[in-house]
Amino acid sequence: MKISSIILSGGRATRMGGMDKGLVKLNDKPLISHVIERLSPQVDELFINANREVEKYNGYNVPVLQDQHSGFIGPLAGFYLGLNAATHDYVLMVPCDSPLLHEDLASTLLAALLDEDADIAVAKSDGNTHPVFCLCKKSMLPSLSAFIESGERKVSTWQKSLNYIEVDFSKPNAEGVTEAFINLNTASDLEDLAALLNESPTIKQTKPIKPSKQIDQLAKLVADPTGMEDYDPNAMSVENARKYIAQFLNPVAETETLSIRACLGRVISNDILSPANVPNYDNSAMDGYAFHADSLSVADKGLTVIGTVLAGQAFEGTVNKGECVRIMTGAMLPNGTDTVVMQERTTRDGDVMHLTEAPKPTMNVRYAGEDIQLNQAVLKSGHLMKPADIGLIASLGIPGLEVFRRLKVAIFSTGDELVSLGKPLEQGQVYDSNRYTLFGMLARLGVEMIDLGAIPDDPALLKNTMLKAAEVADVVITSGGVSVGEADYMKQLLTEHGEVMFWKLAMKPGRPLAYGKIITDHNQSAHYFGLPGNPVAVMVTFYQFVREALLRIMGQAAPAQLPMFNVTCTEKIRKMTGRTEFQRGICYIDDGGDWKVKPTGAQGSAILSSMSAANCFIILDETVGNLAAGSTVKVQVLDGLV
Ligand code: AMP
Ligand code: MG
Repeated sequence: MKISSIILSGGRATRMGGMDKGLVKLNDKPLISHVIERLSPQVDELFINANREVEKYNGYNVPVLQDQHSGFIGPLAGFYLGLNAATHDYVLMVPCDSPLLHEDLASTLLAALLDEDADIAVAKSDGNTHPVFCLCKKSMLPSLSAFIESGERKVSTWQKSLNYIEVDFSKPNAEGVTEAFINLNTASDLEDLAALLNESPTIKQTKPIKPSKQIDQLAKLVADPTGMEDYDPNAMSVENARKYIAQFLNPVAETETLSIRACLGRVISNDILSPANVPNYDNSAMDGYAFHADSLSVADKGLTVIGTVLAGQAFEGTVNKGECVRIMTGAMLPNGTDTVVMQERTTRDGDVMHLTEAPKPTMNVRYAGEDIQLNQAVLKSGHLMKPADIGLIASLGIPGLEVFRRLKVAIFSTGDELVSLGKPLEQGQVYDSNRYTLFGMLARLGVEMIDLGAIPDDPALLKNTMLKAAEVADVVITSGGVSVGEADYMKQLLTEHGEVMFWKLAMKPGRPLAYGKIITDHNQSAHYFGLPGNPVAVMVTFYQFVREALLRIMGQAAPAQLPMFNVTCTEKIRKMTGRTEFQRGICYIDDGGDWKVKPTGAQGSAILSSMSAANCFIILDETVGNLAAGSTVKVQVLDGLV
């Protein structure tokens, strides 16, 4: 099966400063040349679509086609040219700013297209579709023509009007870079990429932790849990369950190198050592005058101003006793100086500066290495990258970092009563809300999600789904079916296909909970969290157990607990002793300006609106009973998470 291909370089590239994008250089070679190199071995015929600097594009021995539609109508103009000019049945479109495109882009798209008998196959990665990376049947030309004629311009609208499929490329390319679909729109995007490529990124394999060892350990505990302190499966405390789970969690084995922007929210897998002192040189903390402290003894006559030094400059020459240099904040201290006086404490008389208030010797100087010293570990392995961290790394001139790969989490709901959205509810049915709350909570953690839908309480279906989930994911999370009801099959299934413990936790909501490992027939294993079915219980158990566990598997060395503090509750609370309760609360500022908390109202574990209204959990320990208004309670803040 032969493939034609067109490289789309006909856009205006306004954000590249007007320069034609394909001609912008990456590591001394125009982007178009990178793309031609990667594409030529994959296809049987190649075209370029360009509208400006056609002479230059002509230099690549590839036919250059100019838009036949007037007024830069976007990528569809290039699609049209490609479909029109192709002498083969299948046409691959790629943009000119894709120097890292996958080496099997064409073959993978074609295989999927043929497999599914589709008209167009579009690449996607990590949940994002990339409409301008697509393979299309040449026979779609009349459809495209009519679409453009009708005045429509949106690429994805046309694509979705066809027999359309998406093909997943969430995998590293030959260089080990997972940013093959990176968009190079600005000069700084290009700069980041060039820096990263110069570091020659590769997927690095850290020493894998043998899962079988942990499974043996888990199996032993499942068989004889008495080795665990305070173990009582019928009333497991929250704290014990958390500790128990933590012993089976290790970071994913693989790491990858990403440009620092892409590291936001990811966990680093190495210590980062500073390649330099920060600041790199002694400099002034003030706008003022620099001189040597010895000059203070002669300063009543005034100091002669012998020059000026601005930030980014170096003062040539040496400053002697009785002399000074006008200096700006951040400027390098001239030779012979060690003290700065701020401008406001001086007067100026021609070339002479007088002190109105003498500074202490060595005042107002920021010393080299004061912030960070050369070779100091600025961030430790296992650190989750926040905005300040990527700024810190940039301040050291480091363009990319090695991070743990993204975690893959598969989810499915269980229950005969569950109905998907868009269908009417029959008697006794409920809409499946748990997959939506799980989606939201997992999205906040930046994991890759595999949603396997709502599965009826049918042992064969549940088994297949569970094993499929374990094949593709690091972690499998289900809701429902872990209790002791008639149709609660998960326990039976997991005793056959894994090592799992089921607990009745001494908490409300969230009594039934399962943790363990699923082991497939191919000996692949995945962590398993079986959450209760009740919608509020799903959220409570997720925040109390699953969130921290996932962060550990993502590589975080010491995941921070959600913030907790004590605060006065302004309403009475009903509570039974003997179990920990996570009531939903609203923290608010009262008229006096103090933080207070009150419960959200009805607290049933199926009442999701109580969770929607809440910004915190009110955590009431096992020993606590009913509380009067005005009692002090412990709250765990959720705002920004729920
Ligand atoms: P289970 O743990 O399967 O016995 O379910 C407990 C309760 O949660 C039942 O009332 C279920 O109908 C409800 N439930 C289970 N799964 C879901 C879901 N995905 N969405 C909404 N409610 C659910
Ligand atoms: Mg159920």
